[in-house]
Amino acid sequence: MSPDAGIVLVLNAGSSSLKFAGFAATPAGPRPRFAGQVEGIGAAPRLVAKTAAGEGIADHRWDGGDAPANHAEALGVIVRGLDKALHGEPILGIGHRVVHGGTDFAAPMRIDDATMAALETLVPLAPLHQPHNLVGIRAAAEHFPGVPQVACFDTAFHRTQGWAAQTFALPPRFYDAGIRRYGFHGLSYEYIARRIAAEDPTLGAGRLVVAHLGNGASLCAIEGGRSRASTMGFTALDGIPMGTRSGQIDPGVILHMIDRLGMTTAEVTKLLYNGSGLKGMSGVSQDVRQIEAAGTEAAAHALEHFAFRVRREIGAMAASIGGIDALVFTAGIGENAQGVRARICAGLEFLGITLDAARNAAHAAEISVAGAAVKVLVRRTDEEGMIAGHTLGVLNRLG
Ligand code: ADP
Repeated sequence: MSPDAGIVLVLNAGSSSLKFAGFAATPAGPRPRFAGQVEGIGAAPRLVAKTAAGEGIADHRWDGGDAPANHAEALGVIVRGLDKALHGEPILGIGHRVVHGGTDFAAPMRIDDATMAALETLVPLAPLHQPHNLVGIRAAAEHFPGVPQVACFDTAFHRTQGWAAQTFALPPRFYDAGIRRYGFHGLSYEYIARRIAAEDPTLGAGRLVVAHLGNGASLCAIEGGRSRASTMGFTALDGIPMGTRSGQIDPGVILHMIDRLGMTTAEVTKLLYNGSGLKGMSGVSQDVRQIEAAGTEAAAHALEHFAFRVRREIGAMAASIGGIDALVFTAGIGENAQGVRARICAGLEFLGITLDAARNAAHAAEISVAGAAVKVLVRRTDEEGMIAGHTLGVLNRLG
């Protein structure tokens, strides 16, 4: 492929937002050019876009009736707004983040009618995310007819896990029917695993526990670059507490809520997805910065519980791969919240994890004490870059 032969567009469609990023297709791989999002779709939309160098390209709010009312219209706005940034370069392909690839999709793939039909059948497995991803794909196909669309799955990286890690302790017919642990945040974990391997091949071939702590949060045990276990399961609700999600909960509690407390499944769903985790516990916010500033007992409890559960699961992840060579923090909380990182690591000295307080406060790339048995690292994740790389890979295979 000739240098800067065109642009790979990456789309990540959420319930009310459409995030996008443009990458130049270069022989050395994708190079970031611009990124942005339309947020507040259907309510008070706003378009924000910047070049990779941080210069503003667009910042627009609508006050009249011409506001984009859905994802297709939002994409139209993005395309028109990007005319300047594209300099007439062609869009070579569009990579989509798709939350669920089920049991069959273990690698990125070009989307055709049959793939779309298969992805539709997975909607019940990720009802809060998958429908929006599919709407984004349809909108892109409408705007860019003939341009290859590539699906990149959050579940795919975890398909290297062994059977024991993927099953629930249920009769085998449930596993056969697809009721199993899928794991999520795979694009983030894949990026981190590759990056660590590029920086330090010996460490990359070793045992990593990666803590992706954002609004959604999970941990992954990676051995030799392959996922071996993850805290997220059948849905993105399992595992550690999150911004608004409960994480792991005794299934008996849910039965109790329905049978004894008279809650409907819709009420329980809303509670577990939107009203729990850091927000539900603190009563303040899902944002760690606001919880830390609140100074209430409930806010302190939320942070203490979050750190306890993450610490506990770091132990579980290490046990699943027979030890740990490095712990890597990533995503919004992992990259920025030094107080949370310190709380999580306090008590993990038995595993060889000891933080250097000054390095941690400075968000250094390596925050463990010099000579520590286990390196503790902070790395910025790049799911969009991973999707762009996968999309280029699929395009190159297509020829
Ligand atoms: P998403 O899962 O939506 O992609 P992010 O990875 O962007 O989420 O993480 C967002 C979260 O990161 C915020 O809700 C907040 O809790 C946390 N966060 C971001 N910046 C900071 C900061 N400077 N200090 C503490 N926490 C932060």
